Amino acid sequence: MMDLNPKIKPSDMKPITCDNCGGVYFRQVLAINKVSKLLTGEAQDSVIPIPTFRCDDCGFIPEEFRPVEQEKEDDTKSDDK
Ligand SMILES: [Zn+2]
Repeated sequence: MMDLNPKIKPSDMKPITCDNCGGVYFRQVLAINKVSKLLTGEAQDSVIPIPTFRCDDCGFIPEEFRPVEQEKEDDTKSDDK
């Protein structure tokens, strides 16, 4: 699955759509991860930028683009529509 096949046909490509709004346009953003200096042994905390993509319309990041598992910050949105 990791092989880069040079013979990719248009029919092989599936547009990724936003799970949130259905948008098909994404922009590249950087997720910045901080690594504690206690782990790296360096003088300062290290920051590691990881490129990812987010929906240009609503800002939603599809699960497959999330570089790291985000902790659920808000468990308050339990209101059903
Ligand atoms: Zn969206």
